[in-house]
Amino acid sequence: MNDNIRVRFAPSPTGPLHIGGLRTALFNYLFAKKHNGAFILRIEDTDQTRFVPGAEDYIISSLKWCGLVPDEGPGFGGSFGPYRQSERKAQYEQYALQLVEAGHAYYAFDTPGELDELRKAHESKGATFVYDARIRESLSNSLNMEASKVKELIEKGIPYVIRFRFEPDQEIVMEDLVRGEVVVSTATLDDKVLFKSDGMPTYHLANVVDDVLMAISHVIRGEEWLPSLPLHVALYKAFGWEHLMPAFAHLPLILKPNGKGKLSKRDGEQGGFPVFPLEWTDPKNGAVSPGYKEEGYLPEACINLLALLGWNPGSEQELFSLPELIKEFQLEKVGKSGSRFDPEKSKWFNQQHIGLLADEVLYSAFSRELEEHGRAVSDEELQALVPLIKPRIGFLHEIWDQSWFFFSAPDSYDANVVKKRWKADIPEKMALLAEAINSCEPFDAASLEAKVKGLIMEKEWGMGAIMNAWRLLLVGAAKGPGLFDLASFIGKEEVVARMSSGIEKITI
Ligand code: GLU
Repeated sequence: MNDNIRVRFAPSPTGPLHIGGLRTALFNYLFAKKHNGAFILRIEDTDQTRFVPGAEDYIISSLKWCGLVPDEGPGFGGSFGPYRQSERKAQYEQYALQLVEAGHAYYAFDTPGELDELRKAHESKGATFVYDARIRESLSNSLNMEASKVKELIEKGIPYVIRFRFEPDQEIVMEDLVRGEVVVSTATLDDKVLFKSDGMPTYHLANVVDDVLMAISHVIRGEEWLPSLPLHVALYKAFGWEHLMPAFAHLPLILKPNGKGKLSKRDGEQGGFPVFPLEWTDPKNGAVSPGYKEEGYLPEACINLLALLGWNPGSEQELFSLPELIKEFQLEKVGKSGSRFDPEKSKWFNQQHIGLLADEVLYSAFSRELEEHGRAVSDEELQALVPLIKPRIGFLHEIWDQSWFFFSAPDSYDANVVKKRWKADIPEKMALLAEAINSCEPFDAASLEAKVKGLIMEKEWGMGAIMNAWRLLLVGAAKGPGLFDLASFIGKEEVVARMSSGIEKITI
């Protein structure tokens, strides 16, 4: 294990993991595995008001389903734990106080009501209230009070928060592995709260402290956290931890299918595609959101489609297995601009990955699907069936729709196909074809092909017209695998029976 590479996926358990979050986990995992480093799961649950029961389990199950198993994390062991911030609660205050002592942070006693009034007063003048260097001197905080007064208020139990004190008008220079150098003036930043009146740290303090204590080498996270980076960099400086500061990489947004704005749960609901890896039941109202797993996606397909949202392999290759992704992944090849999510392409990835699975891997899924429809199949039948159906399904739940005609005769005939293919001369030709088929020995795909094609040549019939009409008799529609394979599977008697019955039933 390379101890110099330690990355963390740090979700807050505020709801189900969106595929954007899963993509962040994936990029962290790929980077860690590529460099033989550690992939750490840290649960950032310091905001008790947003805690959602079941969310942590959901996150862990989703990671496991995708094969992104953490090396360290809650329930995974590791020597930097605990890995849930609520269990690390006791340690954060001392860091906030350390900053107060060094003059980089201060106590603020402004009540929520007072701050609200200030906000409203600013708004009425068309301005925005920002708690910053310009205004903090006039507010209720330790920068404007005698030390004894501060002590008295704290001892009296008056609620306070601890805010970071940005130096006015300085430039913060940040390096991002995706975006290059980013420079921000402190004049545009507010004195963010680091420690809350409920005794909990805010995300910013806990995140920076834990990244240092867990010896994180690279912070790889979504672009929505880029505005927090100046504060984080300022915190590293204020603590004197510049030498411990991780490298940063902010991943581009995943955009709606129309490319306008960030992909949301609503887009999935409207477009009929999942945005969560697993099904999620909202504990508040029982509403169920579909998951990739339940919709029939393979984890391999999910991983593949997510990898290409923001990362460019630099070649035309689109299909990747997890080991291939680990080998090819480079943070330098993550783009800056958002990537459009394409639901149709997601289906394509699934179809391709089903095609890549070894036949044997699909045997159990096939038997299960067929059994659900009352068909018990032998191993021999599975061996014949799986290679024929595998290339024709985009999802495992399509197995029956693509294979029922291996087990039953059609009970209806697609009207459009009848109209197109059942011409006046066809019934007679089909009767002759049935006769030839009846005399075919042995009855296997190759002999049958020779027999049928021989007859077509001899009679100088059109190949397409005959084969399409024959398919209509065997399947009832214009779908299904090669007819010689299908016919040899169902056997001579059944083929001939389907043909005579169809010739009788189909009328133009
Ligand atoms: N807790 C943050 C989240 O929910 C973590 C952001 C980060 O990786 O720094 O995404």
